[in-house]
Amino acid sequence: MSVPSHPLKPFSLAIGLTRVYVARSFNIKPFSERAKAVLNDAHLSYDKAGTADVIYQQLFSFQRNKYSKYIPVYTEGSKTAGHVGAELTAILVPLQHILITNHRHFCMYTDSMSALESLHFLTARRHPTVIEILLLRKLERKGFDIIFSWVPGHVGILGNEQADNAARSMSDPMQQPVCYQDLKTSIQHYIHHIWQQTWNQQILNKLHSIHPSTSSHWAVLPVRRQDVRLTRLSIGHTRFTHKHLLLGENAPECPSCKVLYSVYHILIDCSVFNHHRITFFHTSVLTLSDLVGESPHQNLFAFLLKIGFLYLI
Ligand SMILES: [Zn+2]
Repeated sequence: MSVPSHPLKPFSLAIGLTRVYVARSFNIKPFSERAKAVLNDAHLSYDKAGTADVIYQQLFSFQRNKYSKYIPVYTEGSKTAGHVGAELTAILVPLQHILITNHRHFCMYTDSMSALESLHFLTARRHPTVIEILLLRKLERKGFDIIFSWVPGHVGILGNEQADNAARSMSDPMQQPVCYQDLKTSIQHYIHHIWQQTWNQQILNKLHSIHPSTSSHWAVLPVRRQDVRLTRLSIGHTRFTHKHLLLGENAPECPSCKVLYSVYHILIDCSVFNHHRITFFHTSVLTLSDLVGESPHQNLFAFLLKIGFLYLI
């Protein structure tokens, strides 16, 4: 940021203001400052998986036997700092060498799962490198038979270890500009991670037990009005049971059971609706999560309509 031409220079905070924010930490900093803090903490790298070595070695030798006529080619993707664009390049380089040989059957081993996933789930918009790989894969139709396979790194698989050492000994490791899409994906993952951590602590929030994961879609039902009703039932707040607070009236009471109306009483407890429960749910012994849990009961709204509660939610 000391460089005058730095693209974020216009967004940097004046030194005087920085001191003010330090002195008065209760003031919320501008968005650009908060975003910078998030990016600093993000580290922008993926965790590396680790599992029992000997199992991987056995699986690998089984796979080698099965594809013994395929010449193994090992690539080292993880040395290239965890962004998919560079890992894909690591796959691409050996492919170029393959093209000038007479052999037609190859098995490419890489320890970069994300690079392999990109090969399978690519879209035209994704990586320029992926497009190059696609072009090379067209050559498969000309008689090349190339299998892509994942091997875990650092579990004693010889070829992978050699590729790893070769990459390590390179004085100038493969330099590849980070693709914007990689950066964006990585930041999105990190921001979701922070959101989930914050949400995990909100155990007293009524919505927390209904939606413990921030990654799942918040809307359960495709129709907005129905989804709103479902959420109101889940948190137990409906117009019928709570409007007395706004109107300054007495809380409504079930005339049969002589208890205050609640969503629980109406849906689960009140014996007046037992025969309707049997009709719609085939049992009168239910829990709230049976009816309004992560996947609501398919007859829930028919039941609500029948007992006259649907339009009072
Ligand atoms: Zn009742």
